[in-house]
Amino acid sequence: MNVQLIVVHGWFVLFGAGGVVLAMLLEASAWNAMIVLATYALADAGSYIFHYIVDHYGDAAKDGIVREFQNHHRQPGCIARRPLVEVIYPAARIIALPVLVVLLLALSGWLSGPWALFLFTLGSCWVFTQVFHRWAHLRRPGRVVASLQRSGLILARSPHERHHESPFMTNFAVINGWSNPLFDTIGMPGLVDIVLEKGLGIEKRSTLVADVAAMQLENRQSV
Ligand SMILES: [Zn+2]
Ligand SMILES: [Zn+2]
Repeated sequence: MNVQLIVVHGWFVLFGAGGVVLAMLLEASAWNAMIVLATYALADAGSYIFHYIVDHYGDAAKDGIVREFQNHHRQPGCIARRPLVEVIYPAARIIALPVLVVLLLALSGWLSGPWALFLFTLGSCWVFTQVFHRWAHLRRPGRVVASLQRSGLILARSPHERHHESPFMTNFAVINGWSNPLFDTIGMPGLVDIVLEKGLGIEKRSTLVADVAAMQLENRQSV
């Protein structure tokens, strides 16, 4: 069994165990349901900012996750053909351990139930981010996933298609897409640039827009 399979299987065991632990610690209440819903929205907002940063700032030569996101723009359909294990592994590798710590702290009484619910939900959403993203690229996602996409509970295909249109500056959120209209309207990419470029002096590296535009032109000319 390879490392990816071990990590992803381990993640699913942890995810199930986390559900059991939280069910033991918490009551089924409207307040706890609100925590899950608000965290699901927050995780989506985080996915917008993270996605913008890896698309435009990361060094694809050095960082695997940056390479994965930037290559995705060159061949958007590839993610639909990749096995789920490969799609889940990069995030599970980083997030599984902190989630385990959260559950252990909650079990030992060092962390309150609501905080554990918040952190567990946040971590889980981010581990499954690329699954929602992958589903948005599937031509036939299946009846259940398609109806979740139509209901707006998970990322739908058409808003994400707009992210793959030049100049690739909108619709960065890839969990449920709830933050896309707000963040696109207020110009969140520009705000992130102010913090990273002007505030922290980090150089914007990506040639993503130029690369993909050149590739699209090449494809059109070769048809
Ligand atoms: Zn992107
Ligand atoms: Zn995509």
